[in-house]
Amino acid sequence: MAIENGVMDSGFTKMAHKERQCPGCRLRMPADATAAYAGYYHCSPECWSVYSEVLGTQYGNAIIFGQVHQMTVDAYALQHAGGSHKDKSIAIHLSGLHAANNLGIPQTQIPRLLQRLTNHIKHWPYYAPPQSTGPMTVFDIALAGTPEEHISRVKKWTDFVWNAWSDHHPKIALFVSSHLH
Ligand SMILES: [Zn+2]
Repeated sequence: MAIENGVMDSGFTKMAHKERQCPGCRLRMPADATAAYAGYYHCSPECWSVYSEVLGTQYGNAIIFGQVHQMTVDAYALQHAGGSHKDKSIAIHLSGLHAANNLGIPQTQIPRLLQRLTNHIKHWPYYAPPQSTGPMTVFDIALAGTPEEHISRVKKWTDFVWNAWSDHHPKIALFVSSHLH
């Protein structure tokens, strides 16, 4: 028993020393050799796996899904700009938050609007990402204890991320209105 504990302790110490920071949202997590990410978001595999968990929670709860799923997807993308993240993706997710915050379009109708934009646009603008996207990360959402808390945390997190991109708000408004008339 004592030996088992010893082994567990040294294993834990080893893991605790190996931390990895997400290049997008700055979330620090113990490095997880089993976590993998092969997409173009500027994120760590550990951050992506927390995000996948949060999406799983949202797919399993119709109220959460209806109220904050689209803004979760948009905020996560916008917190992980840079690296090989595509201009098209950043413009689309900025448009999603603009539609929610300024045009008052319900979450469930935003994908259709973004699809219309995608169909119209051939050349996507580049929006330089901000230095910081605020103090919250997807990890804060994963820690929510109730659906209500989940929803309110997503809204708060999304506000931080949207405000961080404020230099581009007028350009996004023009971008969306000029392609959807
Ligand atoms: Zn991250």
